[in-house]
Amino acid sequence: QNKQPGIEAKMNPAPEVIKESYKGSGKLMDKVALITGGDSGIGRSAAVHFAREGAQIAIVYFDEEEDAKDTRKMITEEGRTCLLIKGDVKKPAFAKKAVEQVIKEFGKINILVNNAGIQVPQKDPKKIDDKQLEDTFRTNIFGYFYFAHEALEHFQAGDCIINTTSVTAYRSSPNLIDYSSTKGAITSFTRSLATNLAKSGIRVNAVAPGPVWTPLIVSTFDEKKIKSFGSETAMERAGQPSELGPAYVFLASEDASFITGQVIHVNGGEVVNG
Ligand code: NAD
Repeated sequence: QNKQPGIEAKMNPAPEVIKESYKGSGKLMDKVALITGGDSGIGRSAAVHFAREGAQIAIVYFDEEEDAKDTRKMITEEGRTCLLIKGDVKKPAFAKKAVEQVIKEFGKINILVNNAGIQVPQKDPKKIDDKQLEDTFRTNIFGYFYFAHEALEHFQAGDCIINTTSVTAYRSSPNLIDYSSTKGAITSFTRSLATNLAKSGIRVNAVAPGPVWTPLIVSTFDEKKIKSFGSETAMERAGQPSELGPAYVFLASEDASFITGQVIHVNGGEVVNG
């Protein structure tokens, strides 16, 4: 994974997880949500928004104990339970174990957010070696398949999957060729799986963030570069995690009952193709 140990605590200003003005209204009352990479950044924001809307939460995290515990604290402060599940999304046996743990703890699973991701910038395409390809594709797309397989074993009509893709799937990203390829694959996965499952009442959608202040990009790029990403958006800034969480709530809720196979772009007005 990308995250440098303790990076979250070092970020200044600290990333905003949820806006003070965000009032939950029970949109996800008693739903059970599993969020991969829910310990930080965008996944943490989705988790805390879901909790404020009444959901019980399970978080899959890689190895950042402190971030995971901090997120659990935020969720318990919302009066909800948070199950922490440590492991590697690249491994299908772990996906099976994680979903079984959710069923054991809560008796059901209603929402899967496939969100864990890594990126390794590389200017020279010849230097993207097998190891990098394996890691990036296994984390960013194989992992999404594994968790979808396992969740679908337990899903019923009304349940849903939300996949985190990226603006890089919709514009050229010359220094993130492998990463953006996985994000393009996530978009196709979302559309095809949604069509496959539509008649069963299970919805599948995606969120495509633009640049967002999270450990992923802070660990990968310097401040100047992140500001330059921001300048590519119409709003001329990178977003905060708190600006992403509500899109996940919308897609997970009954408000989105006629929406499947779609991508919501949350990117400060960056113009995208396709
Ligand atoms: P982040 O670093 O805060 O979160 C990434 C999460 O993925 C971490 O919790 C990490 O533990 C988890 N993870 C990575 N490898 C894992 C593995 N093998 N097993 C289990 N967990 C693993 O960064 P973020 O920006 O919140 O990223 C969340 C998602 O958003 C990613 O899919 C990323 O590609 C996507 N995204 C981010 C941006 C951005 O600008 N931050 C833009 C577009 C898309």
